Order: sequence, then structure tokens, then C-alpha cells
Amino acid sequence: MPFDKLGRSLKDLRISVTDRCNLRCSFCMPAGGEYEFFKRDEILSFEEISRFVRIVKRLGVKKVRLTGGEPLLRRSLEKLVEMISQEVEDIAITTNGFLLKEKIKDLFLAGLKRITVSLPSLRDEVFSKIVGKQVKVSQVLEGIYTALELGIPIKVNICVVKGINEGEVMDFIEFFRGLGVEVRFIEFMDVGTLNGWSLEQVFSAEDILKVVSEHYRVYPLERANGETALRFSLEDGYKFGIVASITKPFCGDCNRLRLTADGKLLTCLFASEGFDVKKLLRGGVGDEDIEELVKSVWEQREDRYSEERLEKKDVKKIEMFKIGG
Ligand code: SAM
Ligand code: SF4
Ligand code: SF4
Repeated sequence: MPFDKLGRSLKDLRISVTDRCNLRCSFCMPAGGEYEFFKRDEILSFEEISRFVRIVKRLGVKKVRLTGGEPLLRRSLEKLVEMISQEVEDIAITTNGFLLKEKIKDLFLAGLKRITVSLPSLRDEVFSKIVGKQVKVSQVLEGIYTALELGIPIKVNICVVKGINEGEVMDFIEFFRGLGVEVRFIEFMDVGTLNGWSLEQVFSAEDILKVVSEHYRVYPLERANGETALRFSLEDGYKFGIVASITKPFCGDCNRLRLTADGKLLTCLFASEGFDVKKLLRGGVGDEDIEELVKSVWEQREDRYSEERLEKKDVKKIEMFKIGG
């Protein structure tokens, strides 16, 4: 198992299966932006992706998460889930949930183990404003209910942005507590270049805890190694999390490798460029040689952008919808 320059081992792989999306969340892919998407032949095939998973499994990867853009837009995604679930035990997906109701059963039967649904609001008018078109929260909720009926473990992410949805912290806690679904509040991050991020818009972990503590006694839980969220429990045992990459960075525990839809390997969300795996996969390079090259990419890694954010001013950043969060 390789260790990077800061002593972190490789455990998770996050794969973006497409850079396209059916929504335009203002904090990720603002409406009206000019977007250029990968062409069909630029993105990795399911065979190429599962070959890569087989290779990195030998380097210690145990968990795979499919993301995007919106991963449910990738046709026949269940086939990829089936292929990957033969390689690793834990295969999850992060989705905006819009197509979940129609797709979840096939994904579940193919071996999908867990789902994270990203939902920025429980109010139709706020949700519509955030995504730049008329949408209904119920469409996402129906997908969540269907997943719960199938017994798939599910979490809900909300990216909290001041002035947009920070007033919904308690609504999320109460609504999802009722369903037994863990919520994770994500601090608005300075990923990419398009979302107009500023520190003033970050509703911090401290702000979130202050709101919840006005209603309930909140107990911090111990953080497991490699866990990105700070986790808390209410008196009745309901658990929620906060991903505080701005105010409480967790780079020291970052065990994650990211593969973009066009086959670039990134060792950080804030990386400026990736290592071209597609060239190797399509260039007749053998599995063992690719394994060695990926190992050396990991061993040379020393990313800790979130801890160095204030010193790093002019970093060339890749957009969130190309990396997948
Ligand atoms: N489309 C899928 C979704 O929304 O779940 C998967 C890709 S999306 C890029 C992955 C996650 O990134 C989502 O949970 C989303 O809320 C989060 N995200 C996007 N932009 C963000 C930002 N600027 N700061 C924090 N989280 C962000
Ligand atoms: Fe699409 Fe997800 Fe980005 Fe929203 S956060 S625009 S759903 S990729
Ligand atoms: Fe990992 Fe980079 Fe995020 Fe730090 S900033 S936790 S190294 S992805």
C-alpha cells in the first residue's frame, strides 16, 4: 500500500462518469455560463473504468463512489455498477436525485451499496432559484423514498450558502430526522472558477452548530480515520455531519483519489491538472506498469490546499462538475 509524502494511504476512489448535468446549481455550475463538455470518445468506457478499478484495488482502494456532473445521466450506469461491484465491496453514488426514482432499482440490483443525494433546499422556490429552472423538491424526495423502501443506506448533502439557504438548517434536521436519514451540511467551497465564491458567503460549521444548539443539545462524535465530515448526535441518537473544508480542513486524513470522466487522475479537489490515465489505458500499457505509475503519483502527492488556502491565491482550478466533489 503506497503512502504519500504526508503519510496518507490510498483508500477511496471517486469516479466522475460524466461532466454533464441536468441542473445548474449556482454554487457549482451557475445558469447562463458557457460550458464545454467532453465529447463521447473523450470519456472513459465502462471497460476502461473497471480495468482502472481493478488496478487501484491492488494499491489499497476499497471504496468507489460514482459522481459527475450528474452520474445518473450516464446511460446504463447499472452496468458499470455491476462491473465495479465485482472488484470492490463498497460502491456508492453521489447524485442530485432527479432521476433516482426511475433508476434506483436497477442500480440496487446491480450491487450499489449506498447513496448520497445532494439537495440544496426543501422549498420549491429556493430550489428553483438555485438551479436556475422550475423544479420540485418532491421529485428528489420520491427518489429518496424509493431508495429507503429498497433498504439502501442514504445520506443527504446540502451545500449551505449564506443568503441563499442557510435558513434551512433546522428544516433539514427535522425533516430528515423523521426519515432516519443523516444530513451533511457542506461549507460552500472555493472550487472551480465560476461560482463567485467569497468567504463572506460561507455559513460555517460554527454557524451551523449554533443554530442546531439553539434547539437541541448536540454531542460531538469521534471522527473515524478518512472521514471527511465532523459528526454529531442529538439526544435521541439522530446523527448529522458537517463537512467543514473551509473552517476546519481535514487534509491530514485525505485518502482519496479522483478520476475525471476523461481519464485524468487528480490527488486533490483543488488540483490544477491531472495525470493522464486514459493515455495509458488506450496506449497498450500493461496493468502492472499502470499500477506502478499510479503508485508513484500517489507517493509524490503532498496536497493540502484547504490548509494552505489563504497562501494560495492564483491556483488554476478545475470545475467541481468535472471533478465530482
Ligand atoms: N451532481 C451530483 C450531485 O450534485 O450530487 C454529483 C456531483 S456534485 C459536483 C457533488 C457534490 O458537490 C454535491 O453534493 C454538491 O452539493 C457539492 N458541491 C458542488 N459545488 C460545491 C461548492 N462550491 N462547495 C461545496 N460543495 C459543492
Ligand atoms: Fe449538477 Fe451536482 Fe453541480 Fe448541482 S452540484 S450543478 S447537480 S453537478
Ligand atoms: Fe484532500 Fe485536497 Fe480537500 Fe485537502 S483540499 S482534503 S488534500 S482534496
